[in-house]
Amino acid sequence: MSEADEIKDLGIEDDEIENTLKFIGIANDVCKEKGKMYEFNCPICNNIAKAIKSDYNGHLWAKCEKCDMTIME
Ligand SMILES: [Zn+2]
Repeated sequence: MSEADEIKDLGIEDDEIENTLKFIGIANDVCKEKGKMYEFNCPICNNIAKAIKSDYNGHLWAKCEKCDMTIME
């Protein structure tokens, strides 16, 4: 089973995937320095979202409190 099929099975719509990718892209761009918390405009709800990149493994974490978008990678 392809990854796209698995996503469909979870009932996630295409525009939600697009929003998630946008959110990750901006969060990734804004985190210039690892281990530092950054704020950015959420592309989904325009609220202030927060992002931080781990200073030991480079993993990205971001969260918007308003629309509840959370990413961890
Ligand atoms: Zn949001």
